Amino acid sequence: MKVEIITIGGELLWGETADTNAVYLGRRLIQLGLPPKWITTVGDDPESIREALIQAARRAGLVLVTGGLGTTPDDRTRGALGLALGRPLILDQDLLGDIRERLARRGRRMTSAQERLALIPKGAKILPDAPGLAPGLLLELDDSSIYCLPGVPREMETVFETQVAPVLEKLVTRRTIFRKRLRTVGISETAIVEKLHGLRLRDVAISYLPGPWSVDIWLTVRAPLAREAEDLLARADQQVQDRLQDHIYGVDDDTLERVAAALLIMKGATIAVAESCTGGLLASRLTDVPGSSACFERGVVAYSDEAKRQILKVPKSTLARHGAISGETATAMAEGIRRASGAQLGLSTTGIAGPAGATVEKPVGLTFIGLAHAETSLAEKFLFGQDRLTNKESAVQAALNMVRLHLLNR
Ligand code: ATP
Ligand code: MG
Repeated sequence: MKVEIITIGGELLWGETADTNAVYLGRRLIQLGLPPKWITTVGDDPESIREALIQAARRAGLVLVTGGLGTTPDDRTRGALGLALGRPLILDQDLLGDIRERLARRGRRMTSAQERLALIPKGAKILPDAPGLAPGLLLELDDSSIYCLPGVPREMETVFETQVAPVLEKLVTRRTIFRKRLRTVGISETAIVEKLHGLRLRDVAISYLPGPWSVDIWLTVRAPLAREAEDLLARADQQVQDRLQDHIYGVDDDTLERVAAALLIMKGATIAVAESCTGGLLASRLTDVPGSSACFERGVVAYSDEAKRQILKVPKSTLARHGAISGETATAMAEGIRRASGAQLGLSTTGIAGPAGATVEKPVGLTFIGLAHAETSLAEKFLFGQDRLTNKESAVQAALNMVRLHLLNR
């Protein structure tokens, strides 16, 4: 069955709002074995919506529409749906009563705009339990089903999960698509492709999604039977893991901070961080992990040389001789925060995030990560890219990965 997603809203076309509804639905449809063939985005004008609906009804068996169901004047989905399908809008008395009652419970009277929410195309089925006032709608045509969902992402998700997904699950008795994400760190896309060269992955498609200092590898399998698909995926997964080894830190929804925190907790170790170029992002990422208080002792942002001297006791001579962006300073920062906190591990970042501050010897993106522990202290040098925010994120990835590899004794 061909599947189309239609998202409605001028803000989606003009770059004001990212189309997260399409992202959410795309992912869920893949999981349900119903990969979407088209995503169409249109503005709020009735003619565009009508055209999109006519086209979708002609070419797709399942159409998921989001947005434009509400009470504001730019909400035109119901009307356009009626026009597209040649169905008059009729006032649904039950729905009207339901809306009135829900408002009354909040001590409010129904406005005429809210009254219009009960105008729905003839033959449309109401999808109950919407968190907002406007319900989702289902229109069953001869060759296609059109689901209209609210635009507000959280409301859309609720209606999709409670009203639509259960129906779709029954529709597809044999899931034919399986996907797995292998998450890598510290290796470029090109290097991965080289390492995987010559690998014979039977019936498995492989794609790459690069991020800061990391690349996600997606394995996608299509097979008539779920068992078969799972076997193929497991085999491909093993083959890729064999080639990439330690570069893979997790799968699917794993994050590097979660992996690092889990290792710290498992080893009964604590960590303290001293950040310069990452400005607190490293502490933020580590504390994103629920339960991180079991391993995260403290974080300090020591941005100025003065702070590095005062708080971390980086020797004046180190700063003078090697500069703030150097392996020597990174090491001293890691040692300093370890000493001050009493944590088993001290971790530090210092670098030139850009765009300013570069010299011939020290280009934008140059970063040092320091790590101090009971046996030794050391720093690693990295050269990231030109973009400031990406450099901060890359430095955090590199720092977390250093901790991970240390705890794995690599
Ligand atoms: P309401 O009753 O609030 O008017 P609605 O169903 O009419 O809801 P819209 O008016 O289209 O939905 O959008 C409501 C909010 O949800 C807006 O803030 C909008 O930017 C956001 N939104 C709509 N569609 C999307 C989308 N595809 N992705 C992300 N956000 C969206
Ligand atoms: Mg609206």
